[in-house]
Amino acid sequence: MLDGITPRGWLAAGIVAVTAAVTWALAGDWQVPLVALAGGLVALLAASQMREEREAEAAARARDAAVPGPAIEVAIDAILEPVLLLEGTRVALANRAARTLFGDHVAGEDVRTAIRHPAAATHLSQPRDGEPPPIELVGLGGLNQRWEMRANAIGGNRRLVHLLDRTDAHAAEKMRVDFVANASHELRTPLASILGYVETLADEAGDDAEIRARFLRIVFDEAQRMDRLVGDLMSLSRIEADKFRQPSDSIDLARLIHDVATALAGAHDGRGQDISLHVTPGLPVVTGDAVQLSQLLHNLIGNAMKYGRPGTPIRVEAAPAAGNMVRLVVADRGEGIPPEHLPRLTERFYRVDAGRSRSLGGTGLGLAIVKHIVERHRGRLDIASTVGEGTRVTVMLRAADAAVISA
Ligand code: ADP
Repeated sequence: MLDGITPRGWLAAGIVAVTAAVTWALAGDWQVPLVALAGGLVALLAASQMREEREAEAAARARDAAVPGPAIEVAIDAILEPVLLLEGTRVALANRAARTLFGDHVAGEDVRTAIRHPAAATHLSQPRDGEPPPIELVGLGGLNQRWEMRANAIGGNRRLVHLLDRTDAHAAEKMRVDFVANASHELRTPLASILGYVETLADEAGDDAEIRARFLRIVFDEAQRMDRLVGDLMSLSRIEADKFRQPSDSIDLARLIHDVATALAGAHDGRGQDISLHVTPGLPVVTGDAVQLSQLLHNLIGNAMKYGRPGTPIRVEAAPAAGNMVRLVVADRGEGIPPEHLPRLTERFYRVDAGRSRSLGGTGLGLAIVKHIVERHRGRLDIASTVGEGTRVTVMLRAADAAVISA
């Protein structure tokens, strides 16, 4: 126990002993100095005991700080993205998401073995102070997966490695860039044609009435194509802007189908006469946006007219369906669509045959618009097609509550 007494403690003990001796010499009585001496020694022993306890507590705190405790484990497990706690380059802790991504064995491994990614290994091999800039890791966990990795120093030789999944954000950004490039290309093609013909007209061809009329016709057609394209692009951005505002009007779908079929009667080389309507009497009213549902019908019936064989029927059906829904079907007996194209048909500017689509006045945006309209209406879209037999597009829409009107 005496080991714990510091030089300062021995000095205090000396002072107590000297004071006791002086008191004894002056007072000539040994009882008072003896009591003071005993009290001083007891105080000294108590002080040394407290010091030992303080030192033990400090040592325990240091130990706790050196070994990540269960509290840290619980805290990082609550984080949904992968997190690793490193000591030097050794993985001291891995949360649940990290164990799912790298495997259960990572704790205790060298981080370079645990992550197995060259860029990550280089970045993590040298501990750096502060917050080094994040790095991007491609192909970790899956070929197309992208992560942003941060490794921040958190004291001692420890670092917290945090991975953020950037796969969706990257895909969205790529889609946006591709869309701008495609839209510019689609607009530029008719524009280049218009500029070329106008220039030729201004030079020599303008003198010949026949050539002039022909070139002006082409300029007009190309300008119309640009107009359709700009119209579709604007529709698409309007529908996307309204994406989170669910439409709430009550729409008489039977009437809308009738109006659109009538409006299209003269379009696409008189194919209007091939359209037949099959609407169940008393079809429930649907909840929706009249302008958008009209556009959906225009695009679907228009496609059936464009890509169907002349003289073959185009069936437009509407009937109540289970779950308070209304089923709308547009079916044609055209050439059909090869199965490998079906999953991509609703992508912007995706066409099975670009030349054919353009020659028929298509923008490549019709089905993308349909998809967005259906999504905004919280409905479902299904495109089924058999080459040589035809295409059947089904749209499920929500019926308005218990309201019924006669078709
Ligand atoms: P487009 O303006 O080119 O018609 P859409 O987005 O409406 O664009 O359709 C995308 C592509 O899907 C079309 O280019 C066409 O190749 C194919 N397609 C759509 N509807 C039909 C159909 N009823 N029959 C055959 N092919 C179709």
